[in-house]
Amino acid sequence: MGINIYTNCILSSFPLYLPHLIVSRDGGRLYSHFNLDIIFGANTRTPSLDAIELVMDIQKNIPLKDLTTFKIGGIARFFCRVTSEDELLEAIGFSKKEKIPFFVLGGGSNILVSDKGFSGIVIKMEMKGVSYSEDGISTLVTAYAGENWDSLVDEVVEKGLYGIENLSAIPGTVGGSIVQNIGAYGVEVRDVVESVYVLDVKDDEYKTFTRAECKFGYRDSIFKSDKDRYVIISATYRLSHRENIHSEYKDIKNYFFHNRNKKITLKNIREAVIEIRKAKFPDLAIHGTAGSFFKNPIVTTDKARTLLEMYPEMVTYPINQKHVKIPLAWILDNVCHVKGLRKGNAGPYKNQALVVVNYGGSQAVDVIALAQDMVDMVYEKTGIEIEPEVEYIA
Ligand SMILES: Cc1cc2nc3c(=O)[nH]c(=O)nc-3n(C[C@H](O)[C@H](O)[C@H](O)COP(=O)(O)OP(=O)(O)OC[C@H]3O[C@@H](n4cnc5c(N)ncnc54)[C@H](O)[C@@H]3O)c2cc1C
Repeated sequence: MGINIYTNCILSSFPLYLPHLIVSRDGGRLYSHFNLDIIFGANTRTPSLDAIELVMDIQKNIPLKDLTTFKIGGIARFFCRVTSEDELLEAIGFSKKEKIPFFVLGGGSNILVSDKGFSGIVIKMEMKGVSYSEDGISTLVTAYAGENWDSLVDEVVEKGLYGIENLSAIPGTVGGSIVQNIGAYGVEVRDVVESVYVLDVKDDEYKTFTRAECKFGYRDSIFKSDKDRYVIISATYRLSHRENIHSEYKDIKNYFFHNRNKKITLKNIREAVIEIRKAKFPDLAIHGTAGSFFKNPIVTTDKARTLLEMYPEMVTYPINQKHVKIPLAWILDNVCHVKGLRKGNAGPYKNQALVVVNYGGSQAVDVIALAQDMVDMVYEKTGIEIEPEVEYIA
């Protein structure tokens, strides 16, 4: 693994220089145990969940609504914020001891919490810290799971590192970025993931996953498919010093076409994405949402051909020789005409029908009823079974 080999080898030859080689964001004040994990290979340690002593503050009956971007949901029976690996072990130990389920919460930007809440323990990941190590033309950036994703993007763009600028302004945390394999404007996070360091709750072991072992797919990863097993502690991204711009996506091309005075640079791509997204998504300070509620459907080329006969203006994006992706927003707008649809106070966003919005005081049941209507309409008109991207927590 890149980081372990690199640091171990440097350490054995020049131990005294190590603090200069692994630079944490605040000059190394907080992250000494993190750096030691990297040095000694944290994945070799074995936590003992049975021996955990409970000293942390585990709260009861905490409303989850304000911990999600949808601003919907009931209470968590138990709740805690974890800021270290020890606290994480305590929280998992608590769930095992009490025989209750746990749910790991990041920024709450891809979930819809049931109106009845969650009857287990919600573990809010607040482990923070970022460190950098050089590896040829790349920099390996390791961030703890509780880091805010967009702050990380901002920081690496300022440092002149290429790779995640197209993923600017996506809400949530580093942990969530990996679980979901976030994607936007022609880039997915898997393109730059080097490794992911986790607590395996089933085997009581720390493990490091390579990119291939993460089994990334479209808004998918092993951490999602094997959900109650892994808690992501940190992720390492391989970012490049060399210019590597992705500006071929239609919206980005249009942006630079209309802003001809702007050069296509790393910082300007970030600026472009932030501006494009402002028009597509509601302001989270005003309306609740979890972004795109459904995944864009992937259909066979035969199916797409049939649909194109019915809707010749429909756009398709090739995935491989046999499959294409269809922008669901186009179907919702032009085939299903969902504009203005409401259940309670939940409805599709005026600028992007794929985005379901809580226009104020909506409940999870409203969103579910609306989503069901959308699923039925799309199936009736196109024969496509659409799937939610947002996860329902009950
Ligand atoms: C306005 C808006 C725009 C969006 N745009 C995009 C977009 O362009 N592209 C895109 O891909 N997504 C987008 N999203 C969705 C969302 O921002 C991402 O999926 C984000 O990565 C979720 O991160 P989070 O920390 O909020 O995760 P949460 O919503 O808190 O959790 C999501 C899932 O990840 C799990 N999880 C979180 N942290 C950990 C951890 N440390 N260990 C194990 N499991 C964990 C949770 O248990 C849950 O299953 C958007 C959302 C909003 C509100």
